[in-house]
Amino acid sequence: RKTLIATNPANDKVLGEHEMLDAAGIAEKLDQTRRGYAELRELPVAERARKLHALADLIDERQAEIGEIICHEMGKPFSQVIAETKISSAIVRFYADHAEEFMTPKTKEVPGAQKAEIVRDPMGAVLGVMPWNYPLYQVVRFAAPNLAGGNACLLKHASNVPGSAKLITRLFHDAGFEEGTFTWLPVSSSEIDGIIRDPIVCGVTLTGSDAAGKAVAKTAGEEIKPSVLELGGIDPLIVLDDADIDKAVELAIDGRFDNTGQSCAASKRLIVLEPIARRFTEKLIDQVQKLRIGDPMDENTDIGPMSRKDLRDDLHDQVQRAVKQGAQIETGGEILDRPGAWYAPTVLTNVAPGNPAFDEELFGPVASVIVARDVEHAIEFANHSEYGLGGTVVGQDVKRAEQVARRLNVGMSFVNRPTTPFAQLPFGGVKKSGYGREQSEYGFGEFMNVRTVFIA
Ligand code: NDP
Repeated sequence: RKTLIATNPANDKVLGEHEMLDAAGIAEKLDQTRRGYAELRELPVAERARKLHALADLIDERQAEIGEIICHEMGKPFSQVIAETKISSAIVRFYADHAEEFMTPKTKEVPGAQKAEIVRDPMGAVLGVMPWNYPLYQVVRFAAPNLAGGNACLLKHASNVPGSAKLITRLFHDAGFEEGTFTWLPVSSSEIDGIIRDPIVCGVTLTGSDAAGKAVAKTAGEEIKPSVLELGGIDPLIVLDDADIDKAVELAIDGRFDNTGQSCAASKRLIVLEPIARRFTEKLIDQVQKLRIGDPMDENTDIGPMSRKDLRDDLHDQVQRAVKQGAQIETGGEILDRPGAWYAPTVLTNVAPGNPAFDEELFGPVASVIVARDVEHAIEFANHSEYGLGGTVVGQDVKRAEQVARRLNVGMSFVNRPTTPFAQLPFGGVKKSGYGREQSEYGFGEFMNVRTVFIA
């Protein structure tokens, strides 16, 4: 049997091997899911909500154990994994608290109807194809709303985080979502096509690269099954000329370097108005040089290794191409000479459209500084992208900053804060960042049958 091998990106040590499913194993899991779904959809909503409350509590209680395995498998600094567990339990609790409300039929006054209702019904099993960058958060934000609504969940997790996938699955099972209602499929991505085509699968949600998104959406399209895609972005963070420089740098560093820069909605393009560009950039370089690189298990670490060496090498290639196109390395720009997937926190200046550091998603600890003449120029730069996930505007005149933020062609506009997930607010983008929404009531509705019931 084939195995998934987990390696610690901080030191290249092998952490463990996990058996993958063969064709018969996949068929068995799908059959279990057919039975699990039949039971789950008949459970009272309050009972599903009770299990979700249990799951949220388990995530809180076992955050150190979760933190350790995620930290070891993908290199995220421990304190940041704890933050991940907190937003994850908040999302699960949100759906537990609101399941009844979201499932309550809406009665409408309609001519000729004794009764007219809009009802939400589950549809089957939702396949979640998930990435390694937030191994827990990515899973709960698809699974919690679906389980609340009565859909079973199938998880295809990223190949480099099998231990995390296993532990997360155990948490769902311990909370009462047995095998068949929440099921991990340790399979390679080549099996996804066949799984989407199985009749029990009612839809697929993917967070990851464009290439993976296209492959999954193509099969879903052929099967006329809904899909949700969250494919990342090259989010702008605009620093207006009235911004407090220290505050702006702090937000930029938080927005860009959290999770060692490996976030879809990271502030990848720092667009600064010309009058304050020099002061902002100097301070940014100074602060980036002060970031503490080290053992991700150490609570003082700001920057851990990247999650995989191949992705680190791809990032370095992008930086080198950016430099060939005129970008200047102010700090970093190099692979750190030690075992593991380390990359120096980097600041690039002299970046403009046409440069890879402007046009491509740099999924790692690299900040690109872009200087704009004025506010209109900054908005033009911000919207000059194939992607449109989130965007931040920083300035002391909050009204002005809000007006700018609302003109960004993105799914999430933030003022004086980098894009941050909240259970109550939808998360998702426009253009090549994908379609559909996660979190909030919008995330609840993506894979539910919105049924019209009309009684004459
Ligand atoms: P991938 O998109 O390859 O991986 C994400 C998930 O999709 C994994 O579970 C992966 O499985 C699966 N997958 C990959 N190819 C296919 C396919 N053809 N059909 C079905 N499923 C597939 O991302 P990578 O880990 O390779 O990272 C590459 C780049 O993707 C990053 O540099 C970044 O730009 C972007 N990315 C964006 C993320 C986001 O949050 N939006 C998160 C992670 C990456 P497997 O692991 O087995 O290959």
